[in-house]
Amino acid sequence: MPEGPSIVILKEAVQMFKGQRVAAVRGNTKIDKDRMKGQQIIDFKSWGKHFLICFPKFAIRIHFMLFGSYRINEEKETPVRLSLEFKTGKLNFYACSVQVIDEPLDSLYDWPGDVMNDSWDPKKAKKKLKALPDLMVCDALLDQHIFAGVGNIIKNEVLFRIYVHPKSTVGNLPVKQLNMLIKEARNYSFDFLQWKKQYVLKKHWLAHTKRTCPRCKIPLNKEYLGKTNRRSFFCNNCQVLYQ
Ligand SMILES: [Zn+2]
Repeated sequence: MPEGPSIVILKEAVQMFKGQRVAAVRGNTKIDKDRMKGQQIIDFKSWGKHFLICFPKFAIRIHFMLFGSYRINEEKETPVRLSLEFKTGKLNFYACSVQVIDEPLDSLYDWPGDVMNDSWDPKKAKKKLKALPDLMVCDALLDQHIFAGVGNIIKNEVLFRIYVHPKSTVGNLPVKQLNMLIKEARNYSFDFLQWKKQYVLKKHWLAHTKRTCPRCKIPLNKEYLGKTNRRSFFCNNCQVLYQ
């Protein structure tokens, strides 16, 4: 599943279609495709893992779920979910969720809650975390209402980076660790963005999918943790359990 930084990469990659009109629409999505025909794209936005194609009176929300993908000026052999054709190229989406949004985006999206957004607000994140003291930090990082855009890779790497055990609860984190959690959720997301652009993301993983702790040189643990039950890679020796 693409995490926030990957959606930012997509947003940057499609900028050439901004201002263009949709010449043709295809795909097996059940939404009313005719609405888009002839319409001008006024912007592309992202919020967490959502990719938003903005038209003057509505927007299209793309969520890649587990297996979604896209191609720019290329086609895959699998059935296309939504294909937008322009004078100068085309944009194809596969195996994703497609929805029409008629409400104004500002009324729907908490932009300061997106770790990649310019308006990201760490104080707001802290307030939300403090209201959920019993939440495990592995679940907190994946909570899209707190850290929109953070996915499983970012979660594992952030917790390793700040020496915090994934089973620690938010309420038991010392202030310093709580602040680091919030700071690194954004910092690591931008590192992820740069590494992904240079095709070196995996090379920089320290914990995610790894078998040995690079700090302690002992085996890492792999467990499915929290209410989200997602794969966690962590070191029992150098990541402190606060509970
Ligand atoms: Zn270790």
